[in-house]
Amino acid sequence: MKRIAVVMAMSAEASPVLTALSAEAATGVAPLVVRWFTSTRHRSEILIALNGRDRRFGVDSIGTEPAALNTYVAIDRFRPDVVISAGTAGGWERAGGAIGDVYVSDGCVVHHDRRIALEGFREYGIGAYPVLPARQMAATLGLRTGIVTTSNSLDENDDDRLLISASGAAVKDMEAAAVAYVCEQLSVPFLALKAITDLVDHPTATADQFNANLSMASKRLSEKLLEVLDWLIPRERGDMS
Ligand code: SAH
Repeated sequence: MKRIAVVMAMSAEASPVLTALSAEAATGVAPLVVRWFTSTRHRSEILIALNGRDRRFGVDSIGTEPAALNTYVAIDRFRPDVVISAGTAGGWERAGGAIGDVYVSDGCVVHHDRRIALEGFREYGIGAYPVLPARQMAATLGLRTGIVTTSNSLDENDDDRLLISASGAAVKDMEAAAVAYVCEQLSVPFLALKAITDLVDHPTATADQFNANLSMASKRLSEKLLEVLDWLIPRERGDMS
């Protein structure tokens, strides 16, 4: 894999890996609001594509729309061999999750907030986008594996819980399915790498857990992301299973 794009939502999530890669800010992506950084590792080109900051609200552009836009532009301009949706995520105690665990996507990536009770559209809503097979990589690098599920909410309501238990997801975020959707439409291999900041079924409020653990989880993410890059760089797409 000679060109790897890493799509990320929050600058705090990206900060440790940008430092570790000595990544440099890329110019020429204006007038878009995305923020891109590039680096070279073992002669492979790495793009760290941040969704950027919302022009009006001033916060990091989390959620599906910015992730899809960023991914589309990244694929169009950078032509990656693989796209990684990297970031933090929620887990569940009942799924054996622990704060600081790093998961790689397995099986598929789904949405849990797109309930469309119409012929053919139910499945479209859930998505079930393909992911690169990564169990061998996970076993070697000490990563957990699981289905990643996405919605535009940090919390989960009762309807979300039904779809989450139907999919058997172990990881919950706000971007992976949007990135995976664009990758599937444009035939680019995809995987998600997610570090757990919070356990959704823990009595402590998700937002409080998230804020307490963001920095630690982002460091864990950076360590594992470098190992994943070093695993992918010498490999071809077919070498992953
Ligand atoms: N209040 C925070 C907002 C973070 S939103 C702030 O502004 O600092 C959470 C981000 O981390 C999203 O990009 C999402 O992908 C991920 N995330 C972490 N825990 C999550 C959870 N339990 N559910 C959904 N997304 C989560």
